[in-house]
Formats: sequence, C-alpha cells, structure tokens
Amino acid sequence: MTEIASNLAAVRSSIAEATELSGRPAGAVRFVLVTKTVDVERVREAIRAGAADLGENKVQEGRCKAEALADPAVRWSMIGHLQSNKVKDVLRFAREVQSLDRLSLAAALEKRLQHLGRPLDVLVQVNTSGEPSKFGLSPESVPGFLRELSSFDALRPKGFMTLATFTPDEAEVRRCFRVLRGIRDRALNDAPQGAALGELSMGMSGDYRWAVEEGATIVRVGQAVFGARPLPDSHYWPGVAGTR
Ligand SMILES: *Cc1c(COP(=O)(O)O)cnc(C)c1O
Repeated sequence: MTEIASNLAAVRSSIAEATELSGRPAGAVRFVLVTKTVDVERVREAIRAGAADLGENKVQEGRCKAEALADPAVRWSMIGHLQSNKVKDVLRFAREVQSLDRLSLAAALEKRLQHLGRPLDVLVQVNTSGEPSKFGLSPESVPGFLRELSSFDALRPKGFMTLATFTPDEAEVRRCFRVLRGIRDRALNDAPQGAALGELSMGMSGDYRWAVEEGATIVRVGQAVFGARPLPDSHYWPGVAGTR
C-alpha cells in the first residue's frame, strides 16, 4: 500500500470511529479530500486508492487538475474564497461551491447557471471565529441571507461551512463548530429552504474528529493524507512544528 493509500484508510477509519462515538450511523459523514498544492500524480494516486470526492480552494488550480485527470467519477468541490469574475471557470469543474459568502456571488453564480441550464449545490460560509482574516457571513446575517437566496432558482443551498479559529485551544475550536451547528438547527426550522439545509461542513486535518463529535456531516481534510503543505498554508496540521 502506498503512503497516500494508508493515510486515506487511517483518516477514513478515524472518521468512522468518531461518527460512531457521536452516536450517528455509519456513513453519516462525508469526507472531502483537499488536494490543494498537491500535484496531479499524487492526486491520481489518491483516486486509485478510492478517493472520489475532492476539494480545491483556488479556481485555476482546481480547473487544471480536473482537466488533467478528466475522470467523470470524481466530484470536485470549491471550498475557497471565490471571486465573482471566476464564476464561469469554477462552473467548468465544480459540482458544488462550499464558500458562498455574499449576495453578489450568489447573483453571479445564478446568472451563469441559468445560462448553462443547470442547478448547483451550495453551502453558506459563516465566519464563526470572528477573526477578521476569515471569509464568511457573520452569524447574525445568515437568516436574512437565506431569505434573499430563496429567490435564486438554480442555487440549491444544502447547509453551512466554516473554518474554526486557528488555535490549539480545543474549547475555542469546538465553540466555533457549535455556533455553526446552532445556525443550522435554527435554519432547519425558520429558513425558507427548511429541511434542505442539513449539511455542516466543518473540520480539517487538525480538528476533524472534534468536528464530527460536534455534528459535522462533511469534513475537509488534506494534510492528514498528503503530508504537510509548505508554509504559510500548513497551520492546521498538528504533526508540524509550530502548528495546531
Ligand atoms: C486547506 C483547506 C482545508 C484542509 O486543510 P488541511 O489542513 O489540509 O486538512 C479545509 N478547508 C479549507 C477551506 C481549506 O482551504
């Protein structure tokens, strides 16, 4: 078994264990493998080891990899900040956008999707940490945003996404995950999209087990499978000196 294959298996079994510990059925948590900065050959190795649900945070990089791999069995998600002028390119490869964080982006996506004649699954990104460096809606602005989103036919909101505070403090990280879960629980009752909004995308290499215990239905993990990324993007992997 290659190192990537064995890391993948280890993350899968760790997710399964945390899912069971949190009293949920097997398969309740979707694992998006984050391939940012990872070259196509190594991504191919992960696909050979069974990965089919991949995430990228940059449009150009995602598009290049999707085209190089040309594998219809792979589902790509956009998980990073998205500029409205990249909408056309992101829709060439992504089947889902997890980083919907403003109305102008929703409008740009909707316009392009109407042209293409297809829908798109989206998650609303929320800034649960309050850090000014993070993208995402403030928790208070989510209900109003969901009401406005309900007028866009092609966008299919499925739930919420967040990045926790960058800190080794478990209580603070879990606090962020609980904020997102509270937003989701309220939206299930109050939002126009109601029961469709079940997804909670939270948890990365350094904190996905906590996220699963707090109710994550999607985790986004890269470094735990591919190894540490070069700085400055490696903060969240606990195996790296000076990181969580
Ligand atoms: C990079 C990234 C991840 C994965 O982080 P790892 O530390 O590689 O697990 C998850 N979500 C987003 C939005 C990212 O940019």
